[in-house]
Amino acid sequence: MRFLENFLLTDRNTLKLPSRARFFAAPETRDELHSLLNTVTARNLPVMVLGGGSNVVFAGDFQGLVLQPAMRGIRCIGETAGHYLVEAEAGEPWPDFVQYCLARNWYGLENLSLIPGTVGAAPIQNIGAYGVEITDRLHSLTALELATGRVREFSHADCRFGYRESVFKQDLRDRYIIARVRFLLQKKPVLKTAYADIQQELAVRGIDAPTPQQVATAVIAIRTRKLPSPAVLANAGSFFKNPVVSVAVLDEIKSRFPDVIAYPQADGAKLAAGWLIEKAGWKGRSIGPVGAYEKQALVLVNHGGATGADVIAVASAIQQAVTSMFGVQLEMEPRIYGI
Ligand code: FAD
Ligand code: NAP
Repeated sequence: MRFLENFLLTDRNTLKLPSRARFFAAPETRDELHSLLNTVTARNLPVMVLGGGSNVVFAGDFQGLVLQPAMRGIRCIGETAGHYLVEAEAGEPWPDFVQYCLARNWYGLENLSLIPGTVGAAPIQNIGAYGVEITDRLHSLTALELATGRVREFSHADCRFGYRESVFKQDLRDRYIIARVRFLLQKKPVLKTAYADIQQELAVRGIDAPTPQQVATAVIAIRTRKLPSPAVLANAGSFFKNPVVSVAVLDEIKSRFPDVIAYPQADGAKLAAGWLIEKAGWKGRSIGPVGAYEKQALVLVNHGGATGADVIAVASAIQQAVTSMFGVQLEMEPRIYGI
């Protein structure tokens, strides 16, 4: 398998940040991936795995191999009374995978419609939207150890999922490439429509007993309205996680801001990070080419020509503004590379 050299990554990340990889390869088959990892081991090269580049910030060049899985394929490999077991290769675009499943009446992914990126990246941060996360649907996955090429099967429990978290962001960070993922999808749909935006969208459309396809259509319509398409305005989605705070912290904030948006959690309350950023005066505000999006302050956008350092400077300014107003530390969601 051929390595491309000094490869420009600007079109491979949705923030459109200029960065170069010393080597780049996009294996299209399992065999290509295996032989590539053998070469990597032999040459002792550092490896970065890249999916669709929709959750990364490139703040410098990468002096190793950027490996972008391009294996494709979706298949139903088993079933129980209530579920289909569906396997997809890492290089499948996530939004296409969701549509493929819906078209075959394999249910459960409708709330995750239109999330950019790849199937292989979906478990990394346990992608979630509108009350559904990958942890609710994932059965198991197959990954290869980058250092040895050895294949390892991960059960659901092995993935150690949390809120926008998994073992692949913690103890096993940068250790594995996810090659394929298996999902348990419902034969009879169990729909989740509690989020206010979904309820409103269905109401506007006059739908009170929605089908899974109608929920997906509603989600796509909401997201298209609210979020900038990376094809039009460069961004990496939500730039910060919603912070979970204790009841005492929530009460203190509530005493000063009675309209704070908070959702109860087992260990306190989840605050809407977008609301905190907006209150701190950052909605629609920019420094140079980077700003907080005018319709959703949680999304940082590159209006053109930004570097990774520009993005990090705005993110840091927002973190400081939120900390000084609310005493809450926002954690960045995308992975920062190159610093
Ligand atoms: P990348 O950005 O390429 O990579 C992200 C991380 O995963 C990197 O650390 C990379 O090394 C690692 N990685 C990627 N592929 C693999 C692999 N095969 N094996 C091992 N490691 C791998 N996220 C949500 O959770 N919910 C949303 O609703 C949502 N909405 C978004 C909306 C927009 C407009 C945008 C731009 C982003 C949104 N995101 C959302 C964030 C992003 O789409 C997801 O995190 C997505 O899963 C990232 O996929 P990717 O293929 O682009 O990964
Ligand atoms: P929203 O609906 O305006 O809600 C704001 C925040 O409040 C959300 O982040 C959500 O948390 C939380 N929330 C709203 N209703 C809730 C409920 N009934 N129960 C529990 N929590 C609730 O959010 P949005 O920005 O338009 O995004 C819609 C969905 O898409 C959210 O789930 C969001 O996570 C997801 N999304 C994620 C990204 C990303 O890059 N990570 C980008 C765009 C959208 P949760 O985030 O925990 O759901």
